[in-house]
Amino acid sequence: MDILQRLFGPGQLPPTKDGYQAPPGALATGWQCHDPDCGEAGYFPAPRASIPRRCGVCGSGTYPRHAWPWQHGERRAELDALQRRAQRDGDTHLALPVHFHLLSWTFEEHLMNGDRGAALAVLGDADGQLRTTMKEKRHFTEGSHRTMFVLSALRSGDPDLALRVLEPWAALARAQGPGYGTDVESDNASRTNYRGLVSSCFAWLEDGRTAPQSHPAYDTVVGWALDTARAARVRDWLTVDQEERLNRLDPYWRHVR
Ligand SMILES: [Zn+2]
Repeated sequence: MDILQRLFGPGQLPPTKDGYQAPPGALATGWQCHDPDCGEAGYFPAPRASIPRRCGVCGSGTYPRHAWPWQHGERRAELDALQRRAQRDGDTHLALPVHFHLLSWTFEEHLMNGDRGAALAVLGDADGQLRTTMKEKRHFTEGSHRTMFVLSALRSGDPDLALRVLEPWAALARAQGPGYGTDVESDNASRTNYRGLVSSCFAWLEDGRTAPQSHPAYDTVVGWALDTARAARVRDWLTVDQEERLNRLDPYWRHVR
């Protein structure tokens, strides 16, 4: 019998590069090559219980990229490894995003344990820290972190909690004006923040629990997506995928003010 199969047993995926071992029955959305110089990766059309043992390009071993909820454990091991690296190297540029990723990980951990109160406390804390960091560091992209909170709330089946992330974020973008008060054309961080907000609104609108007739906030979130996308100059910096989704929502979205 193959040594790997004996070690991990049938139906058990191998550990990730950072040492996370998912339990038997876990599913992977894809795999990645162990050799960072190769970097080959593959994605499955649907989550699977096994991955190719060898990289098809260089022949090195592989590790899984897990489907949710196992992806939660994988992410923690990855963040712990990054945090150790940041501390070892004194790398503050790495330490800052890792800190915020750990906050959104903790938020999701509380939701997975059914502790909504603790999750809300983490969210409030993170919101304050994101606002402060945005003021202090011009190139910081809060959008990618707020997006993680929205996706975590939706994955945990709580679109109302996702609204608690989206509402202050939409208000913040509106209050600060196009480009979060900076020139969108020259500021990549601002473009990322705006795109993050538009994408997060779409993630909420496309969740199975928020159909137009079933959730009272549907039209409000449509408004946040359209207002953000339409803001002067922001509309010229959206992704093709976002433009297609906006067109489906409202073919005349560019023309209304
Ligand atoms: Zn490879």
